[in-house]
Amino acid sequence: MAAKSRKVVVMGYFGVGKSAVTAQFVQGEFPGSYNATVMHSNYRKTIKVRGQEFDLEILDTAGQYESSNLDPHYGLGVDGYIFVYGINSIVSFNTCKAINDKVLNLWGTASVPLVLVGNKSDLAAAHRQVSRDEAETLAGQWGCEFVECSAKDNQNVDTVFMKLLDQMEKARPSAPSSGKQSGGCSLM
Ligand code: GDP
Ligand code: MG
Repeated sequence: MAAKSRKVVVMGYFGVGKSAVTAQFVQGEFPGSYNATVMHSNYRKTIKVRGQEFDLEILDTAGQYESSNLDPHYGLGVDGYIFVYGINSIVSFNTCKAINDKVLNLWGTASVPLVLVGNKSDLAAAHRQVSRDEAETLAGQWGCEFVECSAKDNQNVDTVFMKLLDQMEKARPSAPSSGKQSGGCSLM
């Protein structure tokens, strides 16, 4: 079976661990030093799930979505999204809501394949500001999956991407096996 190409965009407030989650998934390591992502970075990883190979292209964004219209690169040819917040930051949780509005606006649809991710679960005991309950409620409203993870401890990071693959397959179960002909929004 030919590999399926899928493009994923990772979005969220500054410092929530977008790059750390991506690096942990793609490279299997937690970046030792903090490097703010200036523009955005592209990663690739091929994984096999239930016998099907996926070529994932992962766009790790810089966390700047101030303009009222999102950069079209965050929509064009995109198959799914990971919205990351820090469980220790209510501000970053609220930012996910604003990002969702912008992405839906870009797609012109009521929902997109998406996983809501509460990162830094290793800080839960001392620094939690966002409860699992409120995140689950929001994910329920959006009809998406929710995962808490820790890029630092490599807890549940793979689950994030597995759940997103499931969401993307549900969104278009009979999509072509290769090529970029579907997925994401288009420029009118
Ligand atoms: P980004 O701006 O969203 O890309 O965030 P980074 O990946 O650059 O991470 C921002 C800071 O949070 C860095 O100092 C990371 O070491 C730290 N960080 C990222 N993930 C975790 C995590 O799971 N747990 C903890 N405790 N810190 C994390
Ligand atoms: Mg970054």
